[in-house]
Amino acid sequence: MSGTFVGMPAFPKAAHDAVRDTTLRANLRHATHTIRDKRAVAVAELADWAALREAGRQIKDRTLHHLDAYLVQLEEAVTAAGGTVHWASDAAEANRIVADLVKATGETEVVKVKSMATQEIGLNEALEAEGIRAYETDLAELIVQLGEDRPSHILVPAIHRNRGEIRDIFASEMGEWGRPAPDGLTDRPAELAEAARLHLREKFLRAKVGVSGANFMVAETGTLVVVESEGNGRMCLTLPETLISVVGIEKVVPTWRDLEVFLQTLPRSSTAERMNPYTSMWTGTTDADGPTAFHLVLLDNGRTDTLADEVGRQALRCIRCSACLNVCPVYERAGGHAYGSVYPGPIGAILTPQLRGTRSELDASLPYASSLCGACYDVCPVAIDIPEVLVHLREKVAERGGPGHRLEKAAVKAAAWVLDHPAALAAGERLASRTRALHPKRLPGPGASQWTESRDLPEMPAEPFRDWWKRNRT
Ligand code: SF4
Repeated sequence: MSGTFVGMPAFPKAAHDAVRDTTLRANLRHATHTIRDKRAVAVAELADWAALREAGRQIKDRTLHHLDAYLVQLEEAVTAAGGTVHWASDAAEANRIVADLVKATGETEVVKVKSMATQEIGLNEALEAEGIRAYETDLAELIVQLGEDRPSHILVPAIHRNRGEIRDIFASEMGEWGRPAPDGLTDRPAELAEAARLHLREKFLRAKVGVSGANFMVAETGTLVVVESEGNGRMCLTLPETLISVVGIEKVVPTWRDLEVFLQTLPRSSTAERMNPYTSMWTGTTDADGPTAFHLVLLDNGRTDTLADEVGRQALRCIRCSACLNVCPVYERAGGHAYGSVYPGPIGAILTPQLRGTRSELDASLPYASSLCGACYDVCPVAIDIPEVLVHLREKVAERGGPGHRLEKAAVKAAAWVLDHPAALAAGERLASRTRALHPKRLPGPGASQWTESRDLPEMPAEPFRDWWKRNRT
């Protein structure tokens, strides 16, 4: 399996193959049900959960409304604290900036703490092309990297793997990347964690350059925040001499007071914890403590375009908790790879087509990767109305009449013409009523026949309503 999503088929084809993989479905079902049940308990503990959710929604909306001003404030604060800010309009620019910064240090290796933004831009592959090797240090990311796999979940990128598979990957691949797995490694969680710890410790102690993302950036002080569970993040953020953080521009929050809301809602929504084990914060550089050089790469890569869409912009509120994935019946069965993006599940179905556009067949299919049941909206800690955005994006895709929608567009055009011509409409209705005994119970043709397999076609009345009205009421 390739480590990138390039060339993935459209969602229906990828999901069709995924649902036949019984191991994958069992792994996903077990993991998502466990996390979702725990999350429900953690959220129920807070009497003011609804108020926190609303506060989070409002803070994010207000910030997005004045994003330009908060980003300038952030840049000034980071610079004043000794950091350097770089602006990247797309993936290529961001990758070039990071590669140049690493090369300037003379190093050929970097350690990384999980960052969706760097996965989004394909940083590891771009660095590899420049002769720089990036080591993932989050346990699940390590499993994905060693297995030459792709992430399939926002929070647990290797959720599709079970313990036996992880053991096999560690045993066969760790030696290629550094310290090999201990002989006789079993699939006991403690042994697997120890193997990863020993393997990664060697990398942390050697690395001179760290690359991170950030969950939040506080504009008033220029502080970046990473929340995590394993401690690998703290090692990446404190041990290297140079730290490069690549962060989407929507991650800014105006003040520490605002941050307080998300530090309550994020851990409960994602890992069902009252407080995540590690919350690391850094502001520029400090003499004799942590990295001596700090670079912040602010990434646009489609976010400004998303912000311009009145309905779709709410996707930028996302704090990447992954709660929507764990309750989604489509994600549970299809798995994360089928979405062909680093952002899978319900949030991926609305974020990816906005960031990348809907020109490819895959991206145009994503807004349809949902049953519109609304469970994702119910659990979202920043109240993103994902079903609303899905329908909005479907409308845009159908409007363009792209692959799979030409027939739909032609049908809507024909219907618009008929509804604009009352005489033609009346004649059509009469003809349909008179020939109703001959009507098939199912529609013919690809798509239409499947649609009527599970739905009854409405029966045609013996007389058109308008004829009946004319006879009885006028
Ligand atoms: S859309 Fe909401 S529930 Fe889904 S990951 Fe983002 S914040 Fe969490």
